[in-house]
Amino acid sequence: MKAIKLSAPRGEVTVAEVAVPVPGPGEILIRVEASGLCYTDVHLCDGDWEIVENLVKHDLTLGHEAVGIVASLGEGVSNRSVGQRVAAPFLRSTCGECKQCRRGEENHCPNATVLGMSHDGSHAEYVLAMADFVVPVPDGVTPEQAAPLACAGMTVLGGLKKANVGIGTVFGVIGVGGQGHLAIQLAKTMGARVVAMDIDPAKLDLAIALGADQAFDVTQPEAVEQLTALGMDVVMVTAPSHDAHRLALTVVAYGGTISLCAVPGGETPISMTLCGFKGLKLLSQAVATRQDLADILDLAASGKVSCEVTTRSLDAGPESIDALRNGEVVGRVVFVP
Ligand code: ZN
Ligand code: ZN
Repeated sequence: MKAIKLSAPRGEVTVAEVAVPVPGPGEILIRVEASGLCYTDVHLCDGDWEIVENLVKHDLTLGHEAVGIVASLGEGVSNRSVGQRVAAPFLRSTCGECKQCRRGEENHCPNATVLGMSHDGSHAEYVLAMADFVVPVPDGVTPEQAAPLACAGMTVLGGLKKANVGIGTVFGVIGVGGQGHLAIQLAKTMGARVVAMDIDPAKLDLAIALGADQAFDVTQPEAVEQLTALGMDVVMVTAPSHDAHRLALTVVAYGGTISLCAVPGGETPISMTLCGFKGLKLLSQAVATRQDLADILDLAASGKVSCEVTTRSLDAGPESIDALRNGEVVGRVVFVP
């Protein structure tokens, strides 16, 4: 089968022929219908995340936003059936035993394994997943629409829930990309007033089309003053840039919350003095739980959220990763094998 491979962090990205994997105990084999391209794929290619580099498999098949049809079952699997459509997320497995797992924060399990990072991922014709960690895809959502929800969508939904966004919240989102364009729709559904921020006018137009109340080009000299005056209760950062994180601290209201949904490499110099005097809460969001994925799939099935999707073949893998790195992707690229 065909697969998009990364030799090692900072290594080579190629499209290669590899063997179809065989499911082991507890695993299922999924025939991939759609696999979303996430900025995490770029981070892995570029070796941005030194602190987790020991977790990255070498000769890795990239991809962790998978939707497809169950093709076969491994030993002991009784909760899935061949022919069923499922979504397989970034979170491939957790231990189920640690404090974080037991209190419903499985996405913070220190013993988690990760699709398309510690294990081969879904930018391929077939992928293996753990049966217990996939979520059935409801009728009414296409595979191309569902795939980006298995990382981008569930992450921002988890962030919005954790930040208690609801009626009356003034919610800002920095970055109208794969995550950001979904966060706008979800925050509107939750009843918030939504302020979109980006550096690309095309993405600001998309934000307004998706329901944002206001959209700001943050490269304009007057933007920071105007944004600060809005009194944003929650600012979600979905752009993997240090400037975006610093901007969030500057423009969020006193007593406000920063929701960290993008993970740039290296270290962001931020002012703890500013955090202290403004009384800010910093909430980081490392993907989300299986329940969050089920919730956002339901929202998509009821038409409350939809993805801006561009489909590509697996052969277009290397160039698509370059385009995402260069900020040229509007919405989400989804590979259709
Ligand atoms: Zn992702
Ligand atoms: Zn655990």
